[in-house]
Amino acid sequence: MPKSFADLLREARTQIREVTPLEVSALPKGTAVIVDVREEYEWEQGYIPGAEHVSKGYLEQAIEEVAPDRDQPVVLYCAGGIRSLFAAQTMQEMGYTDVASMSAGFQGWKSAGLPFDKPITLSQDQKQRYSRHLLIPEVGSAGQARLLASRALIIGAGGLGSPAALYLAAAGVGTIGLVDFDIVDVSNLQRQIVHTTARVGERKVESASVAIKALNPEIEVVAHEEMLGAANVERIIAGYDVILDGTDTFETRYILNDAAVAAGIPVIHASVFRFEGQLTTFVPYEGPCYRCLYPTPPPPELAPGCSVAGVLGVVPGILGLLQTNEALKVLLGIGNTLAGRLMLFDALETEFTELQLRRDPRCPVCSDEAVAARAAGRPLATTAMGADAPFLLTTTGLAGTISPEARA
Ligand SMILES: [Zn+2]
Repeated sequence: MPKSFADLLREARTQIREVTPLEVSALPKGTAVIVDVREEYEWEQGYIPGAEHVSKGYLEQAIEEVAPDRDQPVVLYCAGGIRSLFAAQTMQEMGYTDVASMSAGFQGWKSAGLPFDKPITLSQDQKQRYSRHLLIPEVGSAGQARLLASRALIIGAGGLGSPAALYLAAAGVGTIGLVDFDIVDVSNLQRQIVHTTARVGERKVESASVAIKALNPEIEVVAHEEMLGAANVERIIAGYDVILDGTDTFETRYILNDAAVAAGIPVIHASVFRFEGQLTTFVPYEGPCYRCLYPTPPPPELAPGCSVAGVLGVVPGILGLLQTNEALKVLLGIGNTLAGRLMLFDALETEFTELQLRRDPRCPVCSDEAVAARAAGRPLATTAMGADAPFLLTTTGLAGTISPEARA
């Protein structure tokens, strides 16, 4: 028997749970994937903050990309709450078990006075400046807008942080935070190219900010002129999308790791020693964290820093750029990161080696048990550490290889 639109709508309403805009706005962040199923031109007028956009016409083809887990809660919305009902039926047919449709749609959302975002449209100047990005399909104007809205935190405006700061700024990463409490010394200039001879004696965050602004005036630089510690780490890293770690002590790395895992922020870690460098990306819960690899710091005498051991100036330059490459991929959501892989670089042989890294199922920071304990307000104990025990790879996560590690 043929069915009218009214029949189909009635049927959909019996099958699909409806939620109001207020209920959707009250959902804690991250509990449901919110999908806007309207057309492109409607999306451009504004959308619910954090929503993904999959036009109803592409739903079957594209929904698995934004909602890979069929049991995760999904809320669909359109303009008035009709198209999203039918789209939700389709998703149910595809095996999604928890799909709701937002009644009254985006109109209802706006009528309720709830906040909405508008997609960034690039200015003429931005289209010129980033034209080589816009030509790449994987970046394009959407990716560039994403970079412009992104926030990257660089810990240490030194050898690794220098190329990172410059290339992130050039790429149009809209906000760059810099954590450093040091001043520019003439011995830094052999590798810390964000600084200049004329700025010796200036605060590093200030000197780096001048260089960033000269390259790309539209970048907002946030200077954190303080030493990263347990007391300020949560405040400093809050709101950043990615962290580039150029820190130089085990203590700081542990503090940063623990806070970043808890906050769910990826950390791209690099370190250098004479002609060698190493790099990995810690994506919380996707790969190991720093504590999975190094449950305890090695004795300081096994881990000399650059000021003691020296470093070929170009090595932090190369590693800092590879960190930046990882950061751009994380921000754009493209490619494969080094999560679960450690890359070693030997400058004398021009050789890259890769090691697989393992998560520690008993890690005191990123294991299921640790997450549950944190949620219950009683985090698991971690190994105590000396005040300034620097560097060196121990071998726990590394299949027996020992590699030195030191400051940039
Ligand atoms: Zn871990």
